Amino acid sequence: MKKLFLISAAILIILLCGCSSQQEIVERDIFALDTFINIKLYGGSEEQANLAQESISELEALFSVTDEKSEISRINSHAGESVAVSDDVYNVIEKAQAVSNRTDGSLDISVYPVVKLWGFTTDERHVPIESDLQSALKNVAYSRISLDETSKTVTLESDMQLDLGAAAKGYIAEKVAEKLKSNGVESAVLSFGGNIQTIGLKGGQEWKIGIKYPNIGDNFGVLSTGEASVVTSATDQRFFEENGIKYHHIIDPKTGYPTDNGTSSVTVVCKDGATADSLSTALFVMGVDRAKELYLNSSDFDFIILTEDGRVFVTEGISDNFTLTDEHSDLSVEVVG
Ligand code: AMP
Ligand code: MG
Repeated sequence: MKKLFLISAAILIILLCGCSSQQEIVERDIFALDTFINIKLYGGSEEQANLAQESISELEALFSVTDEKSEISRINSHAGESVAVSDDVYNVIEKAQAVSNRTDGSLDISVYPVVKLWGFTTDERHVPIESDLQSALKNVAYSRISLDETSKTVTLESDMQLDLGAAAKGYIAEKVAEKLKSNGVESAVLSFGGNIQTIGLKGGQEWKIGIKYPNIGDNFGVLSTGEASVVTSATDQRFFEENGIKYHHIIDPKTGYPTDNGTSSVTVVCKDGATADSLSTALFVMGVDRAKELYLNSSDFDFIILTEDGRVFVTEGISDNFTLTDEHSDLSVEVVG
């Protein structure tokens, strides 16, 4: 009897191992949201991948700042008036505003007039004229964006303009993940450039997410995680060079210039996609010391920060799940918390 039990158990284990190793991966590459998107569904179907693709297109149509028909463009072209928006757009603006409040405006979704002057949304990238920058900065003030919860309306003061580029990708990735889960997907990884959203586990194990060394291009660390949003803001995601100087896309809303505080990359891990994305940008602008302070007064996120001089800061909530790669084992790691 005992022998029979052992044989049955062995067969069961072989079957389980067999299932996970033979699990079919359905993969899809998409260019949307001005980003290369890769979707991997473990044990998924082409229909489910189609669903993800449709969902991305629908959400992009709401959020794109360069599409005249998007809700964001409608808000921008009606500055001074109340504009009714979808729940999706309202939610992202509300979550971004919460992060702006927590970070003293290090994230400011009204920074668009400045981002436009640098040409980051049009691909005509150049250093703006100082006087243009100063006059655009007068219209950057997240506190002058009004939200009305009941009517789901957004009102900008005249001459203000929004860009949800720092927050929407995290939201969209999470929303697509929710749609996939309600359609039977149990294991998947969605990669939207620097935004990673996982669903479930990979063959019963945590996902291993490589954290990229900006400009060098290989990974300096690996993070193990279950289902989460893992979002990175870094100096090499969008940049240009003029007269031998590199200018990247993460703007300090107080100065109008690319943030220059010794930060190289910020990765945020959070259950909420829009908050993860908003925080990655905000913590980049804040720099290590202020990011540490915010962490010590918060309980909803963790981070990995790499500085330009090769120091790595990892918060204690994920420090046991983070390892340096062999190639970068010489970096110094400080645990925050
Ligand atoms: P991310 O890649 O998520 O860090 O977001 C950067 C993008 O958001 C840029 O390409 C700009 O369009 C916009 N952006 C840049 N700096 C800020 C900022 N401080 N607050 C809000 N949006 C920003
Ligand atoms: Mg962001």
